[in-house]
Amino acid sequence: MYQGKEIKKNQEFLVTIEDLTAEGAGVAKLDGYTLFIKDALIGDQAKVAIMKTKKNYGYARLVEIIKPALNRVEPVCSVAKSCGGCQLQHLSYEGQLQYKQNKIMSCLQRIGGFKDIPMEPIMGMEEPYHYRNKAQFPVGRDKNGKIITGFYAGRTHHIIDTSHCDIQAKENDVLLEKVKEFMEEQRISVYDETNHTGLVRHILTRVGFHTGEIMVCLIINGDKLPKAEKLVESLKDIPGMTSIQININKEKTNRILGDRCEVLWGKEYIEDTIGDIVYQISPLSFYQVNPVQTTKLYGTALEFAGLTGNEIVWDLYCGIGTISLFLAQKAKQVYGVEIVPQAIEDAKKNAKRNHMDNVEFFVGAAEEVLPQQYAKSQGTMAADVIVVDPPRKGCEESLLDTMIQMKPEKIVYVSCDPATLARDLKYLCERGYELTRVRGCDMFGHSYHVETVCLLSRKAQ
Ligand code: SAH
Repeated sequence: MYQGKEIKKNQEFLVTIEDLTAEGAGVAKLDGYTLFIKDALIGDQAKVAIMKTKKNYGYARLVEIIKPALNRVEPVCSVAKSCGGCQLQHLSYEGQLQYKQNKIMSCLQRIGGFKDIPMEPIMGMEEPYHYRNKAQFPVGRDKNGKIITGFYAGRTHHIIDTSHCDIQAKENDVLLEKVKEFMEEQRISVYDETNHTGLVRHILTRVGFHTGEIMVCLIINGDKLPKAEKLVESLKDIPGMTSIQININKEKTNRILGDRCEVLWGKEYIEDTIGDIVYQISPLSFYQVNPVQTTKLYGTALEFAGLTGNEIVWDLYCGIGTISLFLAQKAKQVYGVEIVPQAIEDAKKNAKRNHMDNVEFFVGAAEEVLPQQYAKSQGTMAADVIVVDPPRKGCEESLLDTMIQMKPEKIVYVSCDPATLARDLKYLCERGYELTRVRGCDMFGHSYHVETVCLLSRKAQ
């Protein structure tokens, strides 16, 4: 077997790609030594050049594809290779779905130790372009000093100038043009993160796909946007424009948004619908970015929950109450728990907006709120169904323990990371539950991310 030290930088090899990593990079073996190759696909035969070596693995770049994989396609976007936003545009959409389906399966097998997996077909998008309702464009200058907006190149803060993005809402093109025009004309400065000077850091846009409502928010390193009235003047007549805001972020940080927003024109939020429910979305709220697939995802969660109208349901990690309200249509009572106070404020407003009075929300960490409430009830608190939708790191073990004590008939696990999902399912299935349904949903076409919904049923004791 090769050792890293025997291989030199820029040395070239002919390889066949055998696998794709969880982040979408190709994997090839050089006599047992593993190479990771960005933008390579299973089945590609390619000439690659070594970039960096470690003892047991290394990184190489594609020099030439000798024979392409059968599912290799020409990316639609001209900057697909350099932009860090998409990792899989060179893989046919069918191929991407297959990759995501396999990713879920292999995590459940390897990490979860599951054998007979009740896997259902992944829900793909009918239109895998222009699906995102939210964009956060960094603002910078090119080498001629012209203002540019775009996306960061993979793993860097170098901005790729893209006034058009194929996965974003089409409305963005004109919004970005107008904001750039305003900044050039009014000589508004651009934020420079290396010396923490300049004003405009990011442009945030949100588009309600079902309502057509548009929000534009400039994130600034200061308290005031000079000549704001000129910006309002140029944006307000765009069809659908509903909210023009600034967000103040004066911190030296990688976090995009600061805590404070100010409305320049219009409302504080835009509205959008998922199914029959209307949601108010402010710049700081978490809201799923792909509304079409979200409808399918929540529909699946609702189907798995199998509600008849008599159930008590807990929705943990509820955000602005999106899943909670969806479930409340069919449940007796829903309790939502979420750690971000502003999100709970939105959740309460959303419940009122939709005239739903069978939902109650708690602010706090799910792993603290649920055990507290359970202890307070002296173990009598009921739950027929518990839904969890945690961030990538999954659930705390203490939360899973309380869930097991509460003995719900069903647990519906919505996950954005198959690895932590598999870990948590293993824990639950070793303690009285059985994995009865698994379904993937592609919320982020052309990226390596995949969302999964699972149903766990309590085993008869
Ligand atoms: N179910 C919602 C949000 C899912 S994203 C939706 O579909 O829109 C995960 C949410 O978990 C985020 O809103 C995040 O703020 C919240 N969160 C993160 N850690 C948490 C914790 N320990 N307890 C409760 N909520 C948490």
